[in-house]
Amino acid sequence: MAAFDAGRCSAARRRFLRLAVTAALAGGAPILAAAGQVELYADDTLGRYGFGDGHPLGTGRQGAFLRAARAAGLLGQVQVRAGRAATRAELARFHTAEFIDEIATAETGGRTLLDAGDTPVFPDVFRVSAHVVGSALAALERVMTGACRRTFQPVGGLHHAGRGQAAGFCVFNDLGVVIETLRGTYGLERIAYVDIDAHHGDGVFYAFEASPQVVIADIHQDSRTLYPGTGRADETGTGAAAGTKLNIELPPRAGDPEFLRAWQDVERHLRGFEPELFVFQCGADSLAGDPIAQLRYSPAAHAHAAKRLCALADEYAGGRLMAFGGGGYDRDNLARAWSAVLRELLA
Ligand SMILES: [Zn+2]
Repeated sequence: MAAFDAGRCSAARRRFLRLAVTAALAGGAPILAAAGQVELYADDTLGRYGFGDGHPLGTGRQGAFLRAARAAGLLGQVQVRAGRAATRAELARFHTAEFIDEIATAETGGRTLLDAGDTPVFPDVFRVSAHVVGSALAALERVMTGACRRTFQPVGGLHHAGRGQAAGFCVFNDLGVVIETLRGTYGLERIAYVDIDAHHGDGVFYAFEASPQVVIADIHQDSRTLYPGTGRADETGTGAAAGTKLNIELPPRAGDPEFLRAWQDVERHLRGFEPELFVFQCGADSLAGDPIAQLRYSPAAHAHAAKRLCALADEYAGGRLMAFGGGGYDRDNLARAWSAVLRELLA
């Protein structure tokens, strides 16, 4: 729902909004672009999460999305907010103390890689990575206090990081910290995690594989054909959580028709648990043309997932839905996919 009606906007208000959006694109302080029920988390520090020239996850992805969202007239309908750093105690809700120390000392210790090779050290790696997590927690606080219903954080959704290791371009796992906060601080008993990134969200999946409170639905490229090689259909949760997880593998070159068929199973699965909040990782690397994955969705797939999750959130969760950008290594693709998601969050 868009609370801001551009048609009834005064000239002075329109000028203020133009200035606010321009400042947001430049990476400024917290900015009130427009009152509304959708908040977008983007700032200069988030824009610095990336691994430099030549790496698929370079910086500049946030800027590519913001330019497209502005051109599509979406930024004037959301409240653009800056994030914040997560504290060590907040990071420790999901991560081990040893791993947090490892990242905090990575630069001074002269390390160059944080995992076997995908995830290099980059300037200010601890501060910038903790900021991704803190921004997600800032969004979470707004949703849980009823200040807004839906949030989107384009630089976020770092679903490969485990409790004790960086992996697959992901240093700290913002999603994991959010889910632990929902369980621990807020006492939620049914949290939905939905992941349509081309890669399996292994960092989230295995951390909560035995947790019945975390209901997972993850559609991804066949685990035999793509990193991280996990997320088989027979992995449905363990112990008391058996049956709470749904992994759907699609073959390379699968497109919108295959996605839409799979989505029906996702929706059936989610409805069975009546989640109290929805966490959505909408990685754009499942679109046709991504340089490191081989699915062939169009942005219509992302729009459909977002639209249906909003409907489910309205039905079961008081509208509460937090979306995170995740992967996506073609700038035009991520701009189109995430704009499609934001448009549905606003609908
Ligand atoms: Zn991915």
